Amino acid sequence: MNDLIKGKTLFVDMDGVIANFEREPNCVERFASEPLFFLGLQPIVHNLRAVRELIAQGQKVKILSASPNENADRDKHLWLDFYLPQVEREDRVIVRNSDSKAEYMGDLGKCVLIDDYSGNLIPVALNGGTAIKVVNDYDKEIGTHTKYGIPYVKSLIQLV
Ligand SMILES: [Mg+2]
Repeated sequence: MNDLIKGKTLFVDMDGVIANFEREPNCVERFASEPLFFLGLQPIVHNLRAVRELIAQGQKVKILSASPNENADRDKHLWLDFYLPQVEREDRVIVRNSDSKAEYMGDLGKCVLIDDYSGNLIPVALNGGTAIKVVNDYDKEIGTHTKYGIPYVKSLIQLV
């Protein structure tokens, strides 16, 4: 298992990491108001498989996802019930889009945030936590995260 995550609690983002938000046409216009939008997202299979494998190996894994409203919260839970029931509801932290994820992780020294958005990762890295950027099709390997020394992976398989 990768030394970056050994013995720590992983907080795993959903959109852009295990759920393929960006693959949906007009996703930015649709996500806040369309019923069942999040439930319909395709999984990012290689990352989802890696999360399942890490759980099977005994890694503590929580979900930390931002959502626009209560309807979307419900849809995200239903998505997880189907694709990742290994993460129980009490281990799913769903915050609002404007919230700072770092504030929901507890003792950052014991935590890792796995996310595709550098804006979420930087406060974690600056406050003693471990941050890992997931680079995906629409993103650049060399971006804001590199200025902060935040490591990146193309697939969570690299952490297994
Ligand atoms: Mg994301």
